[in-house]
Amino acid sequence: MAGFETLAVHAGQPPDPATGAVVPAIHLASTFAQSAVGRHQGYEYSRSGNPTRHALEACVAALEGASHGSAFSSGLAAEDATLRLLDPGDHVIVGDNVYGGTHRLLAQIHQRAGLHFTPAALDDPAAVEAAWRPETRLVWIETPSNPMMRIADIAALASVAHRRGGLLVVDNTFATPYLQQPLALGADVVVHSTTKYLGGHSDVVGGFVATNDAQVGERIAFLQNAAGAVPGPFDCYLTLRGIKTLAVRMDRQCANASAVAAMLAAHPAVAAVHYPGLPGHPGHAVAAAQMRAFGGMVSFTVRGGEEAALAVAGATRVFTLAESLGAVESLIEHPHRMTHASVAGSELAVDPALVRLSVGVETLTDLLTDLQGALAAGS
Ligand SMILES: *Cc1c(COP(=O)(O)O)cnc(C)c1O
Repeated sequence: MAGFETLAVHAGQPPDPATGAVVPAIHLASTFAQSAVGRHQGYEYSRSGNPTRHALEACVAALEGASHGSAFSSGLAAEDATLRLLDPGDHVIVGDNVYGGTHRLLAQIHQRAGLHFTPAALDDPAAVEAAWRPETRLVWIETPSNPMMRIADIAALASVAHRRGGLLVVDNTFATPYLQQPLALGADVVVHSTTKYLGGHSDVVGGFVATNDAQVGERIAFLQNAAGAVPGPFDCYLTLRGIKTLAVRMDRQCANASAVAAMLAAHPAVAAVHYPGLPGHPGHAVAAAQMRAFGGMVSFTVRGGEEAALAVAGATRVFTLAESLGAVESLIEHPHRMTHASVAGSELAVDPALVRLSVGVETLTDLLTDLQGALAAGS
């Protein structure tokens, strides 16, 4: 099989047979002509199927090593479809350090519809065993997790879930399929916010579900059409365009992030650095075994508490103060007041002294100088 970078550029998007165009067309048509009733060329109506979306679906499925892939209008729409695999009364074990919106989706939408869930420390497979109930159907993890960068052992959790008859879902947004291949490690379903590294340029919102389980894949495709949270063709095109450079962006982002983490770890104003590439990180060995490199996300706590964290987040010039992550530009944010405000006061609340960085592709010395200046301003 072709290598990852080759698939990222070519999978699902051969030159257009009609024109030779080397990039996929943006098919805006909402409907497609039929030569006789029920006789068509594979497309009837764009919610049910669109050629540009299909190109994206084939590409991301190939990158995840999946037989089935469905694109959604956002990461949360992809998560919502995945949770709809379950029935009222079913139980989910969810990482106790997940994207705030994932917790909100469970607590404020699916719980009202009869789903139960228990947060558990997913860097500890024994904690998953302990949280298991007879009605548990699914384990939901992020690794590296948001924003604490904790590492879950995908293969170990897959074997716990499978022994008990459940599914393991991995939100692979932080790692991307370039760094980590959850399905090959035993996971059943991969979900993505393609808004982040796959799109990679902060200009499109999208989500994805990939699986090798035919029954799950067909149900997700059914939900994509029946509930209708589909991405538009232009969004699919932008995401495909971003994916072509995923590997080269990721290489630079990982290199920059690991240099940033090393600088922070030695800085007197910093109390703790969370980056799985640091040898002292509790998940370092598992991350080294299941990831190609350690990713572009770094978080850290400052010694001066929340006030100092807010000052640092407000004082950078190259790092932009903004939510989101994964694109070419470096971002800084304060999880307690920004991305994780929706979990404040819950068991998923984060330390107010925490600062999160999404390290981009800029010149490394500019990034280091910027952070050093902001840390001086915050202390
Ligand atoms: C952003 C994000 C989501 C949600 O995706 P949207 O595209 O914003 O709906 C889910 N999981 C993780 C890890 C994220 O970073």
